[in-house]
This record gives sequence, structure tokens and C-alpha cells, in this order.
Amino acid sequence: MAAAKKPSQRLEQKREQASKIYEGLQARHPDAHCELDHKNPFQLVVATVLSAQSTDVMVNKVTPELFKRWPDAAALAKAKPADVEKVLGKLGMFRQKSKNVIGLSQRLVDRHGGKVPETLAELVELPGVGRKTANVVLGVAFNKPEGVVVDTHVQRLSQRLGLTKESEPLEIEQDLMLLFPRERWDMLSHLLIFHGRRVCTARKPACAACPLSTLCPSAFKAEEVGRKAPRLRVAKVLKKAKKAASGARAAR
Ligand code: SF4
Repeated sequence: MAAAKKPSQRLEQKREQASKIYEGLQARHPDAHCELDHKNPFQLVVATVLSAQSTDVMVNKVTPELFKRWPDAAALAKAKPADVEKVLGKLGMFRQKSKNVIGLSQRLVDRHGGKVPETLAELVELPGVGRKTANVVLGVAFNKPEGVVVDTHVQRLSQRLGLTKESEPLEIEQDLMLLFPRERWDMLSHLLIFHGRRVCTARKPACAACPLSTLCPSAFKAEEVGRKAPRLRVAKVLKKAKKAASGARAAR
């Protein structure tokens, strides 16, 4: 009988597999990058805060006007909430987001001389900035990630690709940090997000066209792996239908 593998051997094997997956993703998406338009760390932190529960495409539609009117933290710190709300009106939770981007600008001015800080501990003190947003900024703007960004695509793909058995973002992040070297943390999330948007979508993963199909334990049976529980999906659909119905009533 073959001897059972030691934990260190199993980890080494998983790291090798993870490396092959990374290289496959890199070959398929050589242009992977952060898809939120920005020109500097300030614009990136604001755009990332705005992207909560909104698509990057929607955020990229509103930020040109936002940054034209309030180009830096000093300007946005003095903006009137009602004016910012008008510009952000197409985004979900635009009132809260307006409050957050004004509040974070004020804090940047008060505590950091108007500059975006370069540590996770300081970033998560800014209004509307959690660990995920902080790591986007640290990775993309400063090339100093302190973790891996785990959004809905990274969560789903990590599960489908067998990189984690966890379902909570923080735990998934720990698994990914263990499997990949730090210099790959930032690009790893861009690669997984690109793959999740273009190939391994939630509803219809294109396994037949996926270069990872020989490495992926979920290949050709992935539809239910890494998706929200049906109960949650139904609740989401009902919520949307209710919102549409109340909108229609209000328009009458
Ligand atoms: S083989 Fe299928 S499930 Fe696996 S990563 Fe590719 S598209 Fe996703």
C-alpha cells in the first residue's frame, strides 16, 4: 500500500497544480488588468468604493464626470452631498456611496495630506473601504498587495478550480495566499475575474472552450459549483421583481 502523503507534500502538490492553473490563465488572458478606469490612486480608491454592488462598466460611466468636477481629495472633500448624488445617481446605493467618497476624501485631507495611504491598516480606516477595496488599491496602485482580492468571480472560480473548499471570502483568501507566492496575488485576482467574466461565467461555464479543462476538477459539471444557494438566488429574483413592480406602480 502506498504511504500516505505528509501535509507538506500535499501542500507542495497543490502549489504545483495552482501554478499550472495560474500559467493557463495567464496564457488565456495576457491582458488581464483592473477594469475600473482610473489615472491615480485617488481615482482608484473612489472607483473601487463605487463598484460595490455595481458593475465596473456602470462605474466607468459615472467617474469621468465625477473626476472632472472634483479631481482630487481636496476638491471632493468640499463637495455638497446633493451634487455628488446627482452624478452618482445611476449606481445602486448612490446616497451611501456619495457620503462615503466625500467622507474618505475628507479623511485623506485631514490625516494623509490628501494622498492615499499605502498600508491596509490605514486604508480600511477610510469610510466605505473594507479589506477587498484596500487590497485592490494596494495591488493595482502600489504593487504592494497584503492579500488577494476575493470578489464574486474569484470566490466562484477558486471553488470550481479546487483551490479552496471554503465559502467565506476571508477563508478563501487565506487558502489562495497559501497556494500562490505574494508576487502573484495581485495578478491572480485579475486573471480569475477576467476568466469568470469571459469563460467561466456563473450560469454557463464554457468548459469546452476553456484551456483549464484538463486541470479543473469541476470541468463539464460546474453549473452548481461556486454559485449562490438556489434559495438565495430565488430571494434575489423576488427582490428584483418586487422592486420593478413598485417602480412600475410609482410611474403610473
Ligand atoms: S473547465 Fe469549466 S468549470 Fe473549470 S474553469 Fe474552465 S470553464 Fe470553469
